[in-house]
Amino acid sequence: MKVIIWGSRGSLPASVRAETVRRKIYKAIEAAKDCQIKSEADIENFIDTKLPFSVRGSYGSNTSCIEIRDGKEYIICDAGTGLRDFGNYVMQSGKSSCHFHIFMSHFHWDHIHGFPFFVPAFIKGNTIDFYGFHEGFEDILVNQQNPPSFPVPVICMQAEKRFNRLELGKEYSIAGFQVKGMEQDHPQKSYGYRFEKDGKNIVYSTDSEHKKSSDEGLYLNFFKDADLLIFDTQYSLADAIYVKEDWGHSSNMVGVELAVRAGVKHLCMYHGEPTHSDETLDKILRDTIRYASIYDDSYPLRISLAYDGLEIEV
Ligand SMILES: [Zn+2]
Ligand SMILES: [Zn+2]
Repeated sequence: MKVIIWGSRGSLPASVRAETVRRKIYKAIEAAKDCQIKSEADIENFIDTKLPFSVRGSYGSNTSCIEIRDGKEYIICDAGTGLRDFGNYVMQSGKSSCHFHIFMSHFHWDHIHGFPFFVPAFIKGNTIDFYGFHEGFEDILVNQQNPPSFPVPVICMQAEKRFNRLELGKEYSIAGFQVKGMEQDHPQKSYGYRFEKDGKNIVYSTDSEHKKSSDEGLYLNFFKDADLLIFDTQYSLADAIYVKEDWGHSSNMVGVELAVRAGVKHLCMYHGEPTHSDETLDKILRDTIRYASIYDDSYPLRISLAYDGLEIEV
């Protein structure tokens, strides 16, 4: 199975400005000055091997949305702006009568405002099952499209929509996966999800603060032996402790420590701070890999930093 990151940013979409693109071009040309580039293959090789990701690419701008791809039905976590790109991908595939399962961590803007632009929701014959733990969450999704906030109300979306309220402590069989949730520390609460199928485990845990007082045991148990942990690392540890305590997010260092202690195989840092440049995010990834080797150099933790379009084999 595969996980695709459609939206990796936290809080709000991050723009890419013209001067940012110009700076990337400048750096690429500067790096090419002393290289022998004569063929198309040379160009491809130069881009892939000589340029850092912050120059050859971008971490992207879409807010929270990931896909777990395995089988006929679509499994999604969160409906941030990344959902719009996912919807366009489905439309291009030409498939009809699609069934979407959308698991909602919570209902802050950055996790819902892709839904009004999710084209498959406007198509009769498609089915969307929403899952969430928050009371009355159907109203939250409906209200964001009511006038005067949006011109097209949910009732005009022709796909069949069902809103399934989940309960903590229960395990559900959905689209071939065993699914369970966990309450997380975040303003208005958020919920993490653990998906299991064929011995593979994927944990989606975003918008979650880990304080000293947090019940670590519950988290370690929820993350235990996960093949992939998608984890909120919006802040630096110093910000999370001193400046932005109670803002509801975590850090790369806490992510590494919990992942190693829980026996996680692959940590994917997620919910990127929208004010961080691509260069800053490159540095955070390097620093995190270095910190993991200091924390426990005998543990083979794989670490990625989510970007829009990242595909991870599980
Ligand atoms: Zn968020
Ligand atoms: Zn939030």
